[in-house]
Amino acid sequence: MIRYLAGGLLDLLLPRHCAVSGRPLMGDETGPVAPEVLREVEVAGADYCTRCGAPQGAGVGVIRECASCREYRDGFGTREVVAVGKYEGVLKEICLALKFGGERKLADVLAAWLAQLAFDRGIAEKVEAVVPMPLHIIRRFQRGYNQAELIARPLARTLEKPLLNDLLRRSEKTERQATLSPAQRKANVEGVFEVRDGRTSDIDGKVVLLIDDVMTTGATMGAAARCLKKAGARAVYAGIAARASLDAGA
Ligand SMILES: [Zn+2]
Repeated sequence: MIRYLAGGLLDLLLPRHCAVSGRPLMGDETGPVAPEVLREVEVAGADYCTRCGAPQGAGVGVIRECASCREYRDGFGTREVVAVGKYEGVLKEICLALKFGGERKLADVLAAWLAQLAFDRGIAEKVEAVVPMPLHIIRRFQRGYNQAELIARPLARTLEKPLLNDLLRRSEKTERQATLSPAQRKANVEGVFEVRDGRTSDIDGKVVLLIDDVMTTGATMGAAARCLKKAGARAVYAGIAARASLDAGA
């Protein structure tokens, strides 16, 4: 009761707003996004591509390659990719507000969806540790947080797996992938990841769930996944908030 009253008082003093639509939120709307906005997100259902995570049209079912990953012959170094949905509409706005708008609580919403999908697809029981995609230290400092880590932390808690934060290191500050062609993206990130000294025993022989917010060509994901496997991980699954196609400009 006291908490309820205090919350109500806080709402009067500091009105909360939906992180996507900006609508003022009522006292009983506890999440960072207004419910009517959240309902617009098309969360992946029974139709998806296991190779890149892209949701497919109704009735397609579970497929191992799709139109948006066919051209990436080398694959992503991952056994399977789980994506909440396509990088468009409200889901895209959520990703952008988390990454660039400082709306950190949105990570909890994304993590809850990812956890549900990981359980539904039987991946939760296979993975033994959760690893967030690292940012380079300078970018991490500029932004104040790593959005992948914000998603990975509550996800690891829900899956009851250890979060291996700071295990992977991004050794170079690379060009922003968004401005580059697929071939340039691959060259830009290849070899920039390393497992920190003394940490290989954390993943040796283990199945790892690697978390990032958005995947486009999969160049970053592939480089990080290959690094984890080189360091001894048995297999890598990927969990991403959104699957973008190259023309969507992620
Ligand atoms: Zn695909």
